[in-house]
Amino acid sequence: MSGGSAELQDHAASGGSAELQDHEREGQGGERGGPARLTVLAGPTAVGKGTVAADVRTRYPEVWLSVSATTRPPRPGEIEGVHYYFVDDAEFDRMVASGELLEWAVVHGRHRYGTPRRPVEDALAAGRPALLEIDLQGARQVRATMPGARFVFLAPPSWDELVRRLVGRGTEDEAERERRLQTAREELAAVSEFDHTVVNADVRQATDDLVQLMGLCPRDGAHRPEQSADDSN
Ligand code: 5GP
Repeated sequence: MSGGSAELQDHAASGGSAELQDHEREGQGGERGGPARLTVLAGPTAVGKGTVAADVRTRYPEVWLSVSATTRPPRPGEIEGVHYYFVDDAEFDRMVASGELLEWAVVHGRHRYGTPRRPVEDALAAGRPALLEIDLQGARQVRATMPGARFVFLAPPSWDELVRRLVGRGTEDEAERERRLQTAREELAAVSEFDHTVVNADVRQATDDLVQLMGLCPRDGAHRPEQSADDSN
């Protein structure tokens, strides 16, 4: 069902094609004519979720990509309302208390990140295929509240490659590296909770595999992002 080095593995029982299983399971299909469905992309730290999400944004603008709220300060080049809504703790507290977030989590033990609920609902109501790129804790919350969503695990081609991506920057000390590797081990163990796995050996192929699972037709595009060494997603 997919070519090249990226593979799709279905965790659904029947062993048929990914698209058929999606269709059978939910009877919905976005571009296949029914109401659009929510897709959640999660995976271990450093696997390249952010890079794949950026490639979706560039090559598949018809996919609606959720913009999260975060208490993390913006990095250089990040744009308010495009990459995140950057909020302070008080505003995040308010969003949580008022039920505005579909899910939220403290990620990497530091900052809070959450998905504003209303824009997701609006996108789905408008028939747009919608994508959340969130961490594992958030994916589990969406699984509990929106079981009809489609859950895709982005996996590294191998453990060694994930270690290479995790430690590649050389900016973390030994203790921090070990902490990250332990987190990655736990995150990788969650693969069986997901409906599908996309292996991120090649960003472009991984993106095409993902959008195919969302019911879109993969197509050629001019842009081909490289896997950046400092992509910690
Ligand atoms: P970064 O700070 O590098 O942009 O993102 C760090 C992590 O936060 C990534 O693993 C990303 O998937 C996760 N993340 C981003 N937005 C959300 C969100 O709305 N909810 C949750 N649970 N995780 C998020």
